[in-house]
Amino acid sequence: MNNTIITLDGHSGCGKSTLAKSLAKELNFLYIDTGAMYRAISLFFLESNQVLKNGILSSHYEETLDLVNIDFSEPNENGESWVRLNGEIVEDRIRNIEISNLVSEVSKNTLIRTKMVLIQQSYSSISNLVMDGRDIGSVVFPNADIKFWVTASADKRAYRRWLEYKENGKNISIQEVTKNINFRDENDQNRKVSPLIKPENSIIIDNTEMSIEETFHFALNHIQNHLGK
Ligand code: C5P
Repeated sequence: MNNTIITLDGHSGCGKSTLAKSLAKELNFLYIDTGAMYRAISLFFLESNQVLKNGILSSHYEETLDLVNIDFSEPNENGESWVRLNGEIVEDRIRNIEISNLVSEVSKNTLIRTKMVLIQQSYSSISNLVMDGRDIGSVVFPNADIKFWVTASADKRAYRRWLEYKENGKNISIQEVTKNINFRDENDQNRKVSPLIKPENSIIIDNTEMSIEETFHFALNHIQNHLGK
Protein backbone atom coordinates (compact mmCIF):
# COMPACT_ATOMS: atom_id res chain seq x y z
CA MET A 1 0.00 0.00 0.00
CA ASN A 2 1.28 3.50 -0.82
CA ASN A 3 2.03 5.90 2.00
CA THR A 4 -0.33 8.86 2.47
CA ILE A 5 1.18 12.23 1.57
CA ILE A 6 -0.10 15.59 2.80
CA THR A 7 1.52 18.75 1.43
CA LEU A 8 1.42 22.35 2.66
CA ASP A 9 2.70 25.22 0.54
CA GLY A 10 2.51 28.97 0.98
CA HIS A 11 4.32 32.24 1.62
CA SER A 12 6.84 32.89 4.39
CA GLY A 13 5.44 33.23 7.87
CA CYS A 14 1.91 31.94 7.15
CA GLY A 15 2.13 29.27 9.86
CA LYS A 16 2.74 26.28 7.57
CA SER A 17 5.36 24.69 9.81
CA THR A 18 3.32 25.06 12.98
CA LEU A 19 0.31 23.53 11.26
CA ALA A 20 2.32 20.77 9.53
CA LYS A 21 4.03 19.80 12.79
CA SER A 22 0.79 19.53 14.75
CA LEU A 23 -0.96 17.59 11.98
CA ALA A 24 1.95 15.14 11.76
CA LYS A 25 1.87 14.64 15.53
CA GLU A 26 -1.91 14.09 15.57
CA LEU A 27 -1.83 11.64 12.65
CA ASN A 28 1.44 10.00 13.68
CA PHE A 29 2.96 10.83 10.28
CA LEU A 30 6.56 11.86 9.61
CA TYR A 31 7.00 15.64 9.33
CA ILE A 32 9.54 17.02 6.85
CA ASP A 33 10.35 20.74 6.96
CA THR A 34 11.82 21.44 3.52
CA GLY A 35 12.53 25.09 4.38
CA ALA A 36 14.93 23.79 7.04
CA MET A 37 16.73 21.79 4.33
CA TYR A 38 17.27 24.92 2.18
CA ARG A 39 18.34 26.83 5.30
CA ALA A 40 20.83 24.09 6.22
CA ILE A 41 22.41 24.04 2.77
CA SER A 42 22.63 27.86 2.87
CA LEU A 43 24.44 27.54 6.21
CA PHE A 44 26.86 25.09 4.64
CA PHE A 45 27.79 27.51 1.83
CA LEU A 46 27.98 30.44 4.25
CA GLU A 47 30.27 28.64 6.69
CA SER A 48 32.49 27.29 3.95
CA ASN A 49 32.98 30.85 2.61
CA GLN A 50 31.31 30.13 -0.70
CA VAL A 51 28.80 32.96 -0.61
CA LEU A 52 29.80 36.04 -2.57
CA LYS A 53 28.12 39.44 -2.59
CA ASN A 54 24.30 39.44 -2.91
CA GLY A 55 24.09 35.76 -2.01
CA ILE A 56 25.72 34.56 -5.25
CA LEU A 57 27.60 31.27 -4.81
CA SER A 58 31.28 30.96 -5.69
CA SER A 59 32.16 29.13 -8.90
CA HIS A 60 33.44 26.16 -6.84
CA TYR A 61 30.09 25.40 -5.23
CA GLU A 62 29.28 22.52 -7.62
CA GLU A 63 32.38 20.58 -6.54
CA THR A 64 31.32 20.67 -2.89
CA LEU A 65 27.60 20.03 -3.47
CA ASP A 66 28.20 16.28 -3.67
CA LEU A 67 29.79 16.38 -0.22
CA VAL A 68 26.73 17.94 1.42
CA ASN A 69 24.46 15.53 3.21
CA ILE A 70 21.10 16.78 4.48
CA ASP A 71 18.79 14.56 6.50
CA PHE A 72 16.70 14.56 9.68
CA SER A 73 17.34 13.18 13.15
CA GLU A 74 15.11 10.42 14.56
CA PRO A 75 11.85 11.93 15.89
CA ASN A 76 11.71 12.43 19.68
CA GLU A 77 8.67 11.51 21.85
CA ASN A 78 6.86 14.65 20.58
CA GLY A 79 7.39 13.56 17.00
CA GLU A 80 9.94 16.36 16.45
CA SER A 81 12.97 15.72 14.31
CA TRP A 82 15.70 18.22 13.44
CA VAL A 83 17.47 18.88 10.19
CA ARG A 84 21.06 17.63 10.06
CA LEU A 85 23.89 19.00 7.96
CA ASN A 86 26.54 16.34 7.43
CA GLY A 87 25.30 14.49 10.50
CA GLU A 88 25.14 17.53 12.79
CA ILE A 89 21.87 19.04 14.07
CA VAL A 90 21.97 22.69 12.97
CA GLU A 91 18.50 23.86 14.04
CA ASP A 92 19.84 26.67 16.29
CA ARG A 93 22.06 28.04 13.50
CA ILE A 94 19.51 28.26 10.68
CA ARG A 95 16.77 30.39 12.30
CA ASN A 96 18.30 33.84 12.05
CA ILE A 97 18.00 36.84 9.77
CA GLU A 98 21.37 36.21 8.08
CA ILE A 99 20.22 32.79 6.81
CA SER A 100 16.73 34.16 6.07
CA ASN A 101 18.31 36.82 3.86
CA LEU A 102 20.46 34.27 2.03
CA VAL A 103 18.16 31.27 1.62
CA SER A 104 15.83 32.44 -1.13
CA GLU A 105 18.87 33.31 -3.28
CA VAL A 106 20.45 29.87 -2.68
CA SER A 107 17.15 28.09 -3.31
CA LYS A 108 16.91 29.56 -6.83
CA ASN A 109 19.75 27.26 -7.88
CA THR A 110 18.65 24.37 -10.13
CA LEU A 111 21.33 21.88 -9.03
CA ILE A 112 20.62 22.51 -5.37
CA ARG A 113 16.86 22.16 -5.91
CA THR A 114 17.30 18.91 -7.84
CA LYS A 115 19.33 17.46 -5.00
CA MET A 116 16.82 18.59 -2.33
CA VAL A 117 13.79 17.32 -4.28
CA LEU A 118 15.30 13.83 -4.63
CA ILE A 119 15.93 13.66 -0.88
CA GLN A 120 12.38 14.91 -0.20
CA GLN A 121 10.82 12.34 -2.54
CA SER A 122 12.82 9.52 -0.95
CA TYR A 123 10.93 9.98 2.34
CA SER A 124 7.67 8.85 0.71
CA SER A 125 8.95 5.27 0.59
CA ILE A 126 9.55 5.08 4.34
CA SER A 127 6.51 6.68 5.97
CA ASN A 128 3.21 8.50 5.72
CA LEU A 129 4.23 12.14 5.37
CA VAL A 130 3.32 15.72 6.15
CA MET A 131 5.71 17.95 4.16
CA ASP A 132 5.72 21.73 3.95
CA GLY A 133 7.53 24.18 1.68
CA ARG A 134 7.08 26.19 -1.51
CA ASP A 135 6.92 23.55 -4.27
CA ILE A 136 5.75 20.42 -2.49
CA GLY A 137 2.26 20.06 -3.99
CA SER A 138 3.40 21.39 -7.37
CA VAL A 139 6.78 19.72 -8.00
CA VAL A 140 7.84 17.29 -5.26
CA PHE A 141 4.53 15.44 -4.89
CA PRO A 142 2.08 16.68 -7.56
CA ASN A 143 -0.06 13.57 -6.91
CA ALA A 144 -0.17 13.95 -3.13
CA ASP A 145 -3.32 12.68 -1.38
CA ILE A 146 -4.15 16.05 0.18
CA LYS A 147 -2.69 19.46 -0.67
CA PHE A 148 -3.09 22.67 1.30
CA TRP A 149 -2.30 26.20 0.21
CA VAL A 150 -1.79 28.25 3.37
CA THR A 151 -1.94 32.02 3.28
CA ALA A 152 -2.38 35.13 5.45
CA SER A 153 -2.01 38.89 4.93
CA ALA A 154 1.59 40.14 4.60
CA ASP A 155 1.26 42.32 7.73
CA LYS A 156 0.01 39.43 9.82
CA ARG A 157 2.79 37.15 8.57
CA ALA A 158 5.50 39.72 9.35
CA TYR A 159 4.05 40.30 12.81
CA ARG A 160 3.99 36.56 13.59
CA ARG A 161 7.58 36.06 12.42
CA TRP A 162 8.73 39.10 14.45
CA LEU A 163 6.99 37.68 17.55
CA GLU A 164 8.75 34.34 16.99
CA TYR A 165 12.16 36.05 16.82
CA LYS A 166 11.31 38.05 19.96
CA GLU A 167 10.24 34.94 21.89
CA ASN A 168 13.56 33.35 20.93
CA GLY A 169 15.47 36.34 22.33
CA LYS A 170 16.34 37.80 18.91
CA ASN A 171 16.05 41.56 18.85
CA ILE A 172 15.02 42.56 15.32
CA SER A 173 12.76 45.42 14.27
CA ILE A 174 9.41 44.63 12.67
CA GLN A 175 10.56 46.71 9.67
CA GLU A 176 13.52 44.40 9.08
CA VAL A 177 11.31 41.31 9.34
CA THR A 178 8.75 42.83 6.94
CA LYS A 179 11.52 43.66 4.49
CA ASN A 180 12.84 40.08 4.61
CA ILE A 181 9.35 38.55 4.19
CA ASN A 182 8.59 40.78 1.18
CA PHE A 183 12.00 40.06 -0.35
CA ARG A 184 11.57 36.29 0.02
CA ASP A 185 7.97 36.32 -1.29
CA GLU A 186 9.15 38.25 -4.34
CA ASN A 187 12.10 35.89 -4.95
CA ASP A 188 10.15 32.70 -4.29
CA GLN A 189 7.25 33.67 -6.59
CA ASN A 190 9.35 34.96 -9.46
CA ARG A 191 12.25 32.52 -9.69
CA LYS A 192 12.55 30.46 -12.87
CA VAL A 193 12.83 27.04 -11.19
CA SER A 194 9.86 25.76 -9.18
CA PRO A 195 8.37 29.14 -8.30
CA LEU A 196 5.97 29.38 -5.39
CA ILE A 197 2.49 28.81 -6.85
CA LYS A 198 -0.80 27.54 -5.52
CA PRO A 199 -0.69 23.82 -6.42
CA GLU A 200 -3.48 22.44 -8.58
CA ASN A 201 -6.36 20.98 -6.53
CA SER A 202 -5.09 22.45 -3.28
CA ILE A 203 -7.37 23.54 -0.46
CA ILE A 204 -6.97 27.18 0.52
CA ILE A 205 -6.52 28.06 4.18
CA ASP A 206 -6.41 31.82 4.74
CA ASN A 207 -5.61 32.08 8.43
CA THR A 208 -5.29 35.89 8.68
CA GLU A 209 -8.16 35.92 11.17
CA MET A 210 -7.84 32.35 12.44
CA SER A 211 -6.06 31.14 15.58
CA ILE A 212 -3.52 28.31 15.48
CA GLU A 213 -6.18 25.96 16.95
CA GLU A 214 -8.83 26.99 14.41
CA THR A 215 -6.39 26.47 11.55
CA PHE A 216 -5.43 23.06 12.92
CA HIS A 217 -9.04 21.89 13.33
CA PHE A 218 -10.02 23.15 9.88
CA ALA A 219 -7.18 21.17 8.26
CA LEU A 220 -7.67 18.08 10.42
CA ASN A 221 -11.40 17.96 9.61
CA HIS A 222 -10.63 18.07 5.96
CA ILE A 223 -8.03 15.29 6.25
CA GLN A 224 -10.33 13.07 8.31
CA ASN A 225 -13.18 13.53 5.82
CA HIS A 226 -10.85 12.77 2.96
CA LEU A 227 -9.30 9.71 4.56
CA GLY A 228 -12.74 8.51 5.63
CA LYS A 229 -12.05 8.45 9.38
O1 C5P B 1 9.92 27.68 5.21
P1 C5P B 1 11.08 28.60 5.43
O2 C5P B 1 10.69 30.04 5.62
O3 C5P B 1 12.03 28.12 6.48
O4 C5P B 1 11.88 28.52 4.04
C1 C5P B 1 13.04 29.27 3.82
C2 C5P B 1 13.24 29.52 2.33
O5 C5P B 1 13.60 28.32 1.68
C3 C5P B 1 12.06 30.07 1.55
O6 C5P B 1 11.93 31.48 1.63
C4 C5P B 1 12.36 29.62 0.14
O7 C5P B 1 13.22 30.54 -0.49
C5 C5P B 1 13.12 28.32 0.34
N1 C5P B 1 12.29 27.13 0.12
C6 C5P B 1 12.11 26.71 -1.17
N2 C5P B 1 11.42 25.55 -1.40
C7 C5P B 1 10.90 24.83 -0.40
C8 C5P B 1 11.05 25.27 0.93
C9 C5P B 1 11.73 26.45 1.16
O8 C5P B 1 12.57 27.34 -2.10
N3 C5P B 1 10.26 23.69 -0.68
